[in-house]
Amino acid sequence: MDTSVAVRDLKISYGALDVIKDLQLEIARGEFLVLLGPSGCGKSTLLNAIAGLIDVADGEVWISGRNVTWEEPKDRGIGMVFQSYALYPQMSVEKNLSFSLRVARHDRADIERRVARAAEILQIEPLLKRKPAHLSGGQRQRVAIGRALVRDVDVFLFDEPLSNLDAKLRVDLRVEIKRLHQRLENTMIYVTHDQIEALTLADRIAVMKGGVIQQLDDPLTIYNRPKNRFVAEFIGSPS
Ligand code: ADP
Ligand code: MG
Repeated sequence: MDTSVAVRDLKISYGALDVIKDLQLEIARGEFLVLLGPSGCGKSTLLNAIAGLIDVADGEVWISGRNVTWEEPKDRGIGMVFQSYALYPQMSVEKNLSFSLRVARHDRADIERRVARAAEILQIEPLLKRKPAHLSGGQRQRVAIGRALVRDVDVFLFDEPLSNLDAKLRVDLRVEIKRLHQRLENTMIYVTHDQIEALTLADRIAVMKGGVIQQLDDPLTIYNRPKNRFVAEFIGSPS
């Protein structure tokens, strides 16, 4: 496997609560991996450990062949999109998109080129001068994706990016994210508790329960040949 992201021997506890229990995971370059499981099973904790947003005391995280366990999030070659949009409210869409590039001191022409490309891909060109308060939920989430997109990252991490949207928009953006993956061909790790989202988006699904990956397989295998009762019931396989 041409490995993009690897998690080795990862254990995370909060006090007496073991949230991630000796977890192993290897994700191929260009793969769309979905972490699926009920609320509280440790999906966000695992994603945040990969992103470097929480310290890993026990285990290792590798990205693009580098042990990044002790690297800052900004150095890991990742872009992250959260459930809440986390846009800068006082900045226009354009400034939100260019912020990280300005911090990293890209030159002006390069910033303009990258912002224009992200805006084109996500079809948000008409919104560039607006402030987040004047955007719909779906538009805000496109901008949030755009902020990761401008940086040419190797790996996109999504934490329930569609959970705050209504049903129609959820479907639209699901299609959009799939299209984005087909166009960029980068690695995507996508957290959700929504079975349909997982089945439609994933190359492989890791079904989690209690900090343990119960099954890691392609959607059809998960659906048709669930390894245990939990996976069968959670995914809604015919019995
Ligand atoms: P998920 O994203 O699958 O809903 P989380 O990774 O957010 O699950 O949380 C897994 C478990 O860890 C939950 O029981 C949650 O309450 C607990 N947890 C998460 N973050 C913290 C924290 N900072 N301190 C204490 N417990 C936490
Ligand atoms: Mg979560």
